[in-house]
Amino acid sequence: MAASQSERDLPSALCSEFLNFSAKDTASRWLVAADLQQEVYRHLAVYVPRILCQGPSGGSSNSSREEQREELACQLLLLAPLEWLLLGEEPASGLALLQEKNQPSPLCGHVFKVGEPTYSCRECAADPTCVLCMQCFLGSVHKEHRYRMTTSGGGGFCDCGDAEAWKKGPYCQKHTPTASNRDTEEDPVAQLPADMVARGYSIFSIILKYAVDMLTWEQEDQLPAGLEPPDRGDTYYCMLFNDEVHTYEQVIYTLQKAVNCSQKEAVSFATTVDRDGRKSVRYGDFQFCEQAKSVIVRNTSRQSKPLRVEVMHSSVVAHQCFALKALSWLGQVIQYSDGLRRILCQVGLQRGPEGENSSLVDQLMLNDSKMWKGARNIYHQLLMNSLLMDLKYKKIFAIQFAKSYERLQCDYVRDDHDREFSITDLSVQIFTVPSLARMLMVEENLMTTIIRTFVDHLRHRDLQGRFQFDRYTAQQAFKFGRVQSLIGDLKYVLISRPSEWTDQLRLKFLEGLEAFLELLKCMQGMDPVVRQVGQHIEMEPEWEAAFTLQMKLTHIISMIQEWCSTDERVLIEAYRKCLSALSHCHSSLPDGEQPISLSLAGHCVETFRYQVSQDKVSIHLPVCRLLAGLHVLLSRTEVASRFPEQLPLGELSPPLLIELPLRCLVLCAQVHAGMWRRNGFSLINQIYYYHNVKCRVEMFDKDIIMLQAGASMMDPNHFLMIVLSRFELFHIFSSADCRKRYREANKDVVQQQNTLIEEMLHLIIMVVCERYVSGVGQVEPFDEVRREIIHQLSIRPMAHSELVKALPENGNKETGLERVIDSVASFKKPGVTGRGLYELRPEWNKHFNLYFHHYSRADQSKAEEAQRKLRRQNGEDTALPPPVPPPLCPLFASLVNLLQCDVLLAVEGAVLQWAVEPSGGGWTESMLQRVLHLVGMALLEEHQQLENSSGDDDITFSYTSKITRPGEAPSTSGSVLALLESLQNAPHLEIHKDMITWILKMVANIKTMRERSSSISTVTISQGQGKEETVRDKDKAERKRKAEMARLRREKIMAQMSEMQKHFINENKELFQQSLEELEASTSAAAENSPPSMELSCVSQVCVGPRRVGGAERRQLVTCILCQEEQEVRGHGRAMVLAAFVQRSTVLSKNRRRNLPNPEHHDPLFMHPDLSLGIHTASCGHIMHATCWQRYFEAVQLKEQRRQQRLRGHTSYDVENGEFLCPLCECLSNTVIPLLPHTHTPDHSVDHPSLEAWLKTTSQQVAALHSAHRKQIDGVAEGAGPGVPEGFRVDFIPQNPFSSSISEMITTFSMSTYKVGLKVNPNEQDQRVPVLIWSTCAYTIQSIERLLMDEEKPLFGSLPCRQDDCLSSLTRFSSACWTAATVTTTHTHFIRLLSALVPDSQVENTPCILDIDMFHLLVYCVLSYSSVHSLDQSGRSVVDSAHLHLLHLVTVAHLVQILLTSTTEEVCMDQDSVGSEEEELTCQLYNTLRKHLNSVLPEVTSGWQLFRCIKVGVLPFLRAAALFFHYLNSTAPPADLLVTGPGQWEALCSYLSLPSNLLQLYQSQHTLLEPLIHRWCCHPGVRQTLQGGGVSVRYPRESNQLIELPEDYSVLINQASSFTCPRSGGDKSRAPTLCLVCGSMLCSQSYCCQTEVDGEDVGACTAHTFTCGAGLGLFLRVRESQVLFVAGKTKGCFYPPPYLDDYGETDQGLKRGNPLHLCVDRYRKIERLWRQHGVAEVIGHAQEANQTLVAIDWQHL
Ligand SMILES: [Zn+2]
Ligand SMILES: [Zn+2]
Ligand SMILES: [Zn+2]
Ligand SMILES: [Zn+2]
Ligand SMILES: [Zn+2]
Ligand SMILES: [Zn+2]
Ligand SMILES: [Zn+2]
Repeated sequence: MAASQSERDLPSALCSEFLNFSAKDTASRWLVAADLQQEVYRHLAVYVPRILCQGPSGGSSNSSREEQREELACQLLLLAPLEWLLLGEEPASGLALLQEKNQPSPLCGHVFKVGEPTYSCRECAADPTCVLCMQCFLGSVHKEHRYRMTTSGGGGFCDCGDAEAWKKGPYCQKHTPTASNRDTEEDPVAQLPADMVARGYSIFSIILKYAVDMLTWEQEDQLPAGLEPPDRGDTYYCMLFNDEVHTYEQVIYTLQKAVNCSQKEAVSFATTVDRDGRKSVRYGDFQFCEQAKSVIVRNTSRQSKPLRVEVMHSSVVAHQCFALKALSWLGQVIQYSDGLRRILCQVGLQRGPEGENSSLVDQLMLNDSKMWKGARNIYHQLLMNSLLMDLKYKKIFAIQFAKSYERLQCDYVRDDHDREFSITDLSVQIFTVPSLARMLMVEENLMTTIIRTFVDHLRHRDLQGRFQFDRYTAQQAFKFGRVQSLIGDLKYVLISRPSEWTDQLRLKFLEGLEAFLELLKCMQGMDPVVRQVGQHIEMEPEWEAAFTLQMKLTHIISMIQEWCSTDERVLIEAYRKCLSALSHCHSSLPDGEQPISLSLAGHCVETFRYQVSQDKVSIHLPVCRLLAGLHVLLSRTEVASRFPEQLPLGELSPPLLIELPLRCLVLCAQVHAGMWRRNGFSLINQIYYYHNVKCRVEMFDKDIIMLQAGASMMDPNHFLMIVLSRFELFHIFSSADCRKRYREANKDVVQQQNTLIEEMLHLIIMVVCERYVSGVGQVEPFDEVRREIIHQLSIRPMAHSELVKALPENGNKETGLERVIDSVASFKKPGVTGRGLYELRPEWNKHFNLYFHHYSRADQSKAEEAQRKLRRQNGEDTALPPPVPPPLCPLFASLVNLLQCDVLLAVEGAVLQWAVEPSGGGWTESMLQRVLHLVGMALLEEHQQLENSSGDDDITFSYTSKITRPGEAPSTSGSVLALLESLQNAPHLEIHKDMITWILKMVANIKTMRERSSSISTVTISQGQGKEETVRDKDKAERKRKAEMARLRREKIMAQMSEMQKHFINENKELFQQSLEELEASTSAAAENSPPSMELSCVSQVCVGPRRVGGAERRQLVTCILCQEEQEVRGHGRAMVLAAFVQRSTVLSKNRRRNLPNPEHHDPLFMHPDLSLGIHTASCGHIMHATCWQRYFEAVQLKEQRRQQRLRGHTSYDVENGEFLCPLCECLSNTVIPLLPHTHTPDHSVDHPSLEAWLKTTSQQVAALHSAHRKQIDGVAEGAGPGVPEGFRVDFIPQNPFSSSISEMITTFSMSTYKVGLKVNPNEQDQRVPVLIWSTCAYTIQSIERLLMDEEKPLFGSLPCRQDDCLSSLTRFSSACWTAATVTTTHTHFIRLLSALVPDSQVENTPCILDIDMFHLLVYCVLSYSSVHSLDQSGRSVVDSAHLHLLHLVTVAHLVQILLTSTTEEVCMDQDSVGSEEEELTCQLYNTLRKHLNSVLPEVTSGWQLFRCIKVGVLPFLRAAALFFHYLNSTAPPADLLVTGPGQWEALCSYLSLPSNLLQLYQSQHTLLEPLIHRWCCHPGVRQTLQGGGVSVRYPRESNQLIELPEDYSVLINQASSFTCPRSGGDKSRAPTLCLVCGSMLCSQSYCCQTEVDGEDVGACTAHTFTCGAGLGLFLRVRESQVLFVAGKTKGCFYPPPYLDDYGETDQGLKRGNPLHLCVDRYRKIERLWRQHGVAEVIGHAQEANQTLVAIDWQHL
């Protein structure tokens, strides 16, 4: 790369230019120049190529420094002169002055970054696109309103200050207009000095033109005139451009090949290309770059079009770079002054010499799709800062934008960049301003333009001109996706209804509507289906595209109707147009054929010859449905009654109107009846969406309305006959022997017909009963929503989000739910789990309608069951009669006649007749139930009429009299009433009895009313009923209630029984949820399991030393969960084991910066008091025979081996690492702990040596061991050596007290702990093996002690038994594990441990006492001592004395440790002088320490404070020691420690055989201890730590908590939005993730932040867990509002976040956008999970329950 070499020293050359260059002089030279543009260009031509893009940049490490240098040079050499010229003075002060004088418009205009939170007010925003930035939001009135919070996708700006965007409160505090704000009408340019205005015009036009020319420049080797560089070198760039076709991987791979770079560089190139849209990947001479280009093109052209690569001359690239900088500069300068902003707007929009569309802004827009991403971003940003911030020019710009709209959209559709990078995306900024949208509609005919453009782009049509999407290619699908954005634009235009109409607006709207109808006409009848008979269809037909289109248009259709509803003239005209469009569609209906004529029950009608089951039928009928919508509007606005003469009602042919919707509904019924099975899933999906909440408003609902409209205009008998005929059921009800139809041969056909009859009856119910649409019935929109909610809640109580999902959203994403919910439902708050639920208030139950039209069949049966149950509970009958419907509007009033027409009566009679003869099976209960419902509705109607009428004359309804008439032919049976009466007591109709009773009562009532109304005024039934019943039925009700209660009890017991019979594992799975909470306080469990020797607790209990009381006398009987055999735990018996899980832990860590230890060389013998890494052991408490477990585990292994051959690694546990699930509770385990017998009660006959004597003996023993070791090593006999104590045999090999099976299990557990603790391969010879077991024992006890302390639980008796069992076996095991290691190993450890307390010259590298955790030391000493003791064959000493002495020594050391570390300022300041004995002794000890340390410690006069520090500091140690000895020696705890409260200290000390004045330990052995203390202090480490300020740990160690989280979730979002990826220079992180343990923010799930851990690339989260949590992590994914648990590289799960909305629900994925607040209880629950080491278990269970979690690449998060 010769070229680049020579340029390396250029920076210094430039440096000298810096010094000599004067921006001021240059500016003044320019000022007097004749041709300013020429001068400026000359300057740029010289400097731009020299400053920018020198040499290869990017990828290398110094690029950011290079960038800074470039930046600086640009500012000084290029921009500064421009600023001087513009301002006429020093730029900094000039700009400040400008800003000071500026009177800004009150617009905020803050442009959003990716991921920044945005707020919209659901009450006040004009539409959902109106948003506020966080700052404005917090200062606005809306924060008290119902608001919605989302994260921005980048782009778009804050609408604060835009009066049109907000119905209320458009200004925040900061942007409230004040007197100093200028009037928006005033010209801000007038505020500037005239000469500056002139200079502004010329500079802005030169620079903007330069930038536009450069950005739209298409030649790679030439520059525009005037910009040619003075010396042109052979230096080129190979420029790679972004496309959306090639993947990251392809690009990275290609680059590595083409330009020979490392993978890392390639990743960096690819990232930049993706972000900025282009990047130079090679720099050099032309040949060199050309070569790279051809490699790239060759490599990427195989499957698709190749990546775009261009070889560009370096000066061209340099000028393009500077053009971008110049645009940014313009954007900055205009921020200082509204006047300058307007000048720039003027310059930008000034028409060029080429006329129309030739302004600079036009040139940019028209070339948008040719520019690379980075360039687009910058100029879009400038447009937003300039044109969109200036109200006057926003308008002018809007017109330009609308003029070019079609062309821009075409460019966009052809372009492959996402919409957010397209100029078309600005439409949201323009079209959502209602006044602009209206203006554009009137002046530029925007509505029509958008619709026409849309239609033009959808070219897939069939012969009839309808859309046809089958067989469309991926390319077309992509294009279809793109044009959908046009619908979005249309939505913006229509989103706010006009409050006032002008004639122009009417004209243009109707023109738009006409275009829209053209679109709908292309949709009417698309994707027709024909029933497949015989064979199943071969290929599922395409259906999604059509439905996508329908779904996208749903809101538009609704909005168009809303527009129409605001103006009568528009409505009438729209109705006309729609009707004529419909008749155009109908022209294709076959009319040439002979109609068929139907007659039934004395009525006749003619209809088409058509059968849904044989002919084509389509679900898509948008024209019909729009007409139905408009028809309702005519009724609602009463236009129909006021201007009937203007309406083309005469042109309506009701049978024609209902024809297509009816076919569609019949199709649904037939699909339901199973007649369309061979048509596959495509049809099922279509039917599903037809009813789905997203589509139904403009599909299913409108079809029902159309039937209602048609029926209300027809003879009801004719209507019903046509319905019967379309359902293909006519022959059943018309033929004479219809009663015998079930004798037909084919059972399937009968079943199909039964379903069809049910569906048809349901349809009739809906047509008459569904009146909750304003315009059909006399209701308000409010009632409609309320009814939906009542019916949803009749199924079961529901969460807010469930209700929202069940309701249709309008264009503003509102459902109206909040307005009604509180009036019909009561809210129940959630607990620590679950979510808040709404429950229907009982007074609304009477509105329940079993045949609610939006119920699916499943919903219906659930609701029915729930309602019947409720009624039984209330002691009521179980009839579910129809509710009283609202009155119909006049236009629909005749609908009710359907209920009493002859044809319906005939149908009812037929069904009832079938039901009387139960044997045949030709009827169904559903059928009967529907008929009863219809009868009920008719009676209600008659009752209503009677109630509301003043006399007999206005009652048109006479159902009761009709049903008493006997049926006419063909149903020659008795009357409907007679049939009902005979059915009342039919045994096979028990279920319907209550309903029939209700009907008959109703009939009787109506009769009475009719009789009375003829004489006196009416009496309402409810009153009459009430009085009669209260007396008569009181007893009956009481009996019924009692019987009901007995039944409920019985049911409950039955349920329990069957529950118990369920599989045991399943039962335990559920128990698992509880078991974690159990850890908190399952006092009951603990009480049951408390040791039986509890009675002894009144005697003073001692758990350590020669006076201790043992528990060995108790026999331990346990049952194996696998073979169910009972077994006693004995040292020589069959081994029993406990399933256990061992994991590394940093939960107690006080130092997360410490590096993980090197597994090979780490010496774990001394635990540092920062406890940075521990090993935790937990167990589910389930016991097995070792042999049973081994067999089980082998089976698991075998299964896994077989499984892995098919499907690698799809389990929640890692068998290769010894993991398995407990066979009983499926708890994640990775080893087993063998159970060992209790220790024996000490031999009280043996003397207890004093500390002095014991120390002496022990040091002799140690010396003897030392010399024995030396002998072994040197092989030289040195005689007897020092005096060996009597009976002590250094070469004694103690007998193994355990059976071989137990020994084997001891090794198993030892190896697991060793393997997990150090992350090494098993090695039984390693000396560290026993240490790790002691370590996990000590650490587990410590962590449990902390939990009990923090939760204020008593030390003993509050642990659940599984933990109790775990600790007890773990401790006893630890005391025996030395038997598996060689004796010398353990000796050596003991000697080294003891030397920390009793310094020993023969031991090296002993840490100072400040660097030792004393509890660990105590545990290790006690547990390792046994091995030394085993050599003493004298029989004159007991282990227990040694334990007590060790406890005393360690306690004193801990006291010293505490005193050394707790002297803070506060302690020294206290001057309280009178002190107790304890305080004086504390002072004495402290002063001794000061003496030894030569006053490194401050002077303290008050013993009180010091003593307090000691007492608080030593407590955790004492408590942990008590737990340890309790489990070691099986000593029952004293009563005082089974509760919390006073007296703990004394009880603790006495239990531990310590004086309650701990200082006496030191005082009583003063002479013996003094030299030890001296030597502790003299350890150089102590002084170093104290002076170096290195005291990291103070006592008591504070418990770790998860980080504090803000109450308001948006604070987190805001934090995360300003978080940038630490690796890719200032880029926004896509998945910012917060570590809940330490508070670090990480850039997760992204290439940029992957790191290598153990030879594998892992994401930022996984990498972080290894430094922060020893492989385990708890995170909050901020964008998703989701908690993430990760363990190791392969395991993880998501967990509900601790943030809830006001409805008690989480919002995982932040989809709903309700404000979220911290739920402290839930956060504490997560914290407890972490502190209890339960996270791995939760992950295990989650993965076991949900296999898809196993497949997620957790390591890449
Ligand atoms: Zn703002
Ligand atoms: Zn504001
Ligand atoms: Zn508001
Ligand atoms: Zn067993
Ligand atoms: Zn278990
Ligand atoms: Zn990153
Ligand atoms: Zn962390």
